[in-house]
Amino acid sequence: MKCKEAIIFIHEYMDGDLNEQGRTELRQHLTDCIACRQRMDQYTRTTALIRSMPRTKVPEHLTNSIMQALPGTSKRTAWTRWVRQHPAVTAAVLFIAVMLMSLVSMWDGDNRLMVRGNDLDQLVITKDQVIVPEGHTINGDLYVENGRLVVEGQVNGNLVVVDGQLNLASTALIGGEHSEINQTIDWLWFKMGEWMEAVTP
Ligand SMILES: [Zn+2]
Repeated sequence: MKCKEAIIFIHEYMDGDLNEQGRTELRQHLTDCIACRQRMDQYTRTTALIRSMPRTKVPEHLTNSIMQALPGTSKRTAWTRWVRQHPAVTAAVLFIAVMLMSLVSMWDGDNRLMVRGNDLDQLVITKDQVIVPEGHTINGDLYVENGRLVVEGQVNGNLVVVDGQLNLASTALIGGEHSEINQTIDWLWFKMGEWMEAVTP
């Protein structure tokens, strides 16, 4: 099993969706791979921390009197108080941090430029950039993933850019719709919503 698969398995395991065979395979990978073992450990601890957080807001006067009763005020207690007063925000921040970390490792090495569409011979394609030069026409849709699409010419169809950037020059003529999709962000929001539903009493 590759780390990329292991990360997906870890997520499924945390959600309680991993079957017996998957668990065996994951266990095998964790025995061999220190990076995934640490990742798994991080998830487990974060989940435990989130679960242990109070679901209802602690009354402010109570928190204040407890804090005043404690000797000294270090940064640590200030932080603890903040966490207690903002459990949802803290959980969200932790969640995003963990997810981003796993995404970064998951997407590493899988960001090759991909171009789909009609009249590809009209394009100028470099390592991470696709250009529709001025005076050139694409008769149809154009789909670019993991790169920048620069339109100076004409596209008689729809433009879709996934995990990249769309630049329309003043000379650009677009016949259809154009949209930019960021899978990382969309996926994060999707997971956030899913997770918020799971922890909300
Ligand atoms: Zn691994």
